[in-house]
Amino acid sequence: MAALGSNMKTIGLLGGMSWESTVSYYRAINQGIKKSLGGLHSAKIAMYSVDFDPIEKLQHEGDWEGTARLLSEAARGIEAAGADFLLICTNTMHKVAPQIEKAITIPLLHIADATADVLLCEGIKNVGLLGTAFTMEEDFYKGRLSEKHGLNVLIPNKDDRQIVHKIIYQELCLGKIQPNSKAEYLRIIDTLASHGAEAVILGCTEIGLLVSQADTNVRLFDTTVIHAEKAVEHATQPSSER
Ligand code: GLU
Repeated sequence: MAALGSNMKTIGLLGGMSWESTVSYYRAINQGIKKSLGGLHSAKIAMYSVDFDPIEKLQHEGDWEGTARLLSEAARGIEAAGADFLLICTNTMHKVAPQIEKAITIPLLHIADATADVLLCEGIKNVGLLGTAFTMEEDFYKGRLSEKHGLNVLIPNKDDRQIVHKIIYQELCLGKIQPNSKAEYLRIIDTLASHGAEAVILGCTEIGLLVSQADTNVRLFDTTVIHAEKAVEHATQPSSER
């Protein structure tokens, strides 16, 4: 395996949304490369970490084209810096993945596709989804899981979706980890399971900072971990297999 080090692909990371979860990506990717290649190997990464404040404002004003312009420019910078492929390190901003893809010539590894592949491999058909309201409610994510991958996706009721969304923006993206919020998430995870979810997708890259598999008997699939593993696999596979 060590010989692969020199052929290792450069991973492009579009991060900063929020930086709290980009730290998780950076750690998970480097741990994965170390596990795969051993020794002093570490990931070759070209990262552009944006200022999240203006992005979050544009999201909540509904100006997605504005976010697409900012992120497309950042993605072009990542390609110019030598990345072989791109990860957008947030589920929500995959809403503008088509515009970002058009701005670059390197491939994009879509977080929902990576997650669906793992779920289908595990034989899961009915899955709960937690994330921002955008992710839980809209076609770019929930719809993609069901239409492209044939998964039956369950989401929390409206009140619980608001709780999940608010905790993401007002706490997790600010690095605030609160026990009462964890209890709320675990209650909502249990409710999804009682409605037939065989597993729950942590479909926001910060949720893994709040809840982990050790907290519940319901199977959890953390999109940050899955996306990072996909990047490691892609970076270390010989070109012919990719
Ligand atoms: N990181 C989060 C996600 O995975 C939310 C922050 C954002 O709006 O990008 O969706």
